[in-house]
Amino acid sequence: QGYLSNIEQKNPSLNALTEVYAEEALAQAKEVQEKINQGKAGRLAGMVVTIKDVFCHKDHSLQSGSKILEGFKSQFTATPIQRMLEEDAIIIGRNNCDEFAMGSSNENSYFGPVKNEAGENKVPGGSSGGSAVAVQSDMCLVSMGSDTGGSVRQPAAFCGVIGFKPSYGRISRHGLTAYASSFDCVGILSKSVDDAALVLEVVSGADEYDHTASQSKVPAFSKAPEWSEKFKVVSFDNINSHEAIDPQIKSAVDQVFAKVESEGNTVNRMDFNFLKYVLPTYYILTTAEASANLSRFDGVKYGYRSQNARDLESMYKKSRSEGFGEEVIKRILLGTYVLSEGFYDAYYTKAQKVRRLIRDEMKQLFADNDFIIMPTTPTPAFDLNSHDRDPLQMYLEDIFTVQASLAGMPAISIPCGTDKDGMPIGIQVICNSFEEEKLLSFSKYLQ
Ligand code: GLN
Repeated sequence: QGYLSNIEQKNPSLNALTEVYAEEALAQAKEVQEKINQGKAGRLAGMVVTIKDVFCHKDHSLQSGSKILEGFKSQFTATPIQRMLEEDAIIIGRNNCDEFAMGSSNENSYFGPVKNEAGENKVPGGSSGGSAVAVQSDMCLVSMGSDTGGSVRQPAAFCGVIGFKPSYGRISRHGLTAYASSFDCVGILSKSVDDAALVLEVVSGADEYDHTASQSKVPAFSKAPEWSEKFKVVSFDNINSHEAIDPQIKSAVDQVFAKVESEGNTVNRMDFNFLKYVLPTYYILTTAEASANLSRFDGVKYGYRSQNARDLESMYKKSRSEGFGEEVIKRILLGTYVLSEGFYDAYYTKAQKVRRLIRDEMKQLFADNDFIIMPTTPTPAFDLNSHDRDPLQMYLEDIFTVQASLAGMPAISIPCGTDKDGMPIGIQVICNSFEEEKLLSFSKYLQ
């Protein structure tokens, strides 16, 4: 009821939730209370969560922030969401997000932009902007998002909450709307590392419906102790002195390195040799995958169908043209272009090769270092509508988050103070694949 009253008060202006399941959540809460009374409560009993509008949730609407899924209801529940329900999490609502998780400001939603509670007229980041704001403004305790190239970490940084992206394959993607399948990760937004660890423990692990989900044993993440050993971290000079970095972000990061060094740990300073290739590689590969994934939305199988069609061909075309927003159309066109005959090798194949080089370079780094620390974003939250006419400026916002995504490695954004206007700053830590336990321990030390 507390969360519901926060939602009632704040959601009309923040627009973080597109649907609230008030009655259902209260009924669920009653059931959970019964179970608690009988000593049969699940591991998430009492945890009130919201889920990004990209997860299937049986008999509930799913629109992925798009008009094209208008009227669509899920026939099953996504594996990670199902696992949370089985442990007595209470789902209180569905989060607004950028259409098909494409965006860095949550301004690409069919349901309108989400507002950042920390600053009037500031974006919350994206694409899981609704999830970040729901946690920030106490509309829930934890929110489930998705992170393809930063969509959990970047809004977490902008809103002053924790955003955790696990290794690719740690959490099943069954029931998660596909954007770029070789990048997509389910991610967690929370206020404490402990909550993120517990949820990760519940939702991770093999799934017969997703064979890219790892079979490896799920460690007891919730028991990960605070890091106490000496460690070696990488600091990238060309990232910390990047021309796009706001000086306040730089000084927040410098302070973290100063603390780490003063406590007797090793900071290895170097350049990240592939920095200038990360965004082009990410945007070539993700648009290619998106153009294939989104071909299923044809006006026939799901949601919206144009009423203006004359024949089958124009029904497909008009349904897609009317149903998808501008950014999604742009990416489908870009992806179709880089996959087209004659350009495929020059763009798609080349980008795949660069992706491998980036991953190898990162693996190499972790042979001799424990963590990489760097800013989550070049700037604090920017003004609404400020990047409207400049897609490249918008894509530049992802420059520090796509690196871990290209490498499939786990990464977390942790709140690290505020700028002079009180807007949150986030610091990012990356570690080697499937070392989430280590990353969570270290996050407790840094938090
Ligand atoms: N902002 C990035 C993009 O638009 C990341 C999105 C995401 O992680 N889903 O692709």
